[in-house]
Amino acid sequence: MTCEEMMAQLADYLGGELVVEHHETVTVHIKGCAKCDSYVTTYSHTTRIVRTLPKCGSLPPAFEARLREVLAEHLSEEVK
Ligand SMILES: [Zn+2]
Repeated sequence: MTCEEMMAQLADYLGGELVVEHHETVTVHIKGCAKCDSYVTTYSHTTRIVRTLPKCGSLPPAFEARLREVLAEHLSEEVK
């Protein structure tokens, strides 16, 4: 398994949604890869913090539209 493959499955891995064999493969990779190990630690720490934040209402529509635009640009750049 490459680091990219691990990253692609990370959300499912942490959500407990991977089948056992895939879960094992990811676990083995993380144990043997310092880069992914620290990424997973940061990622799970961040999601834990975010869950403790109070929920706010809807974003102002103009702000949400701009945010989606920026995120879409950012995500398409990462794919390149
Ligand atoms: Zn890795």
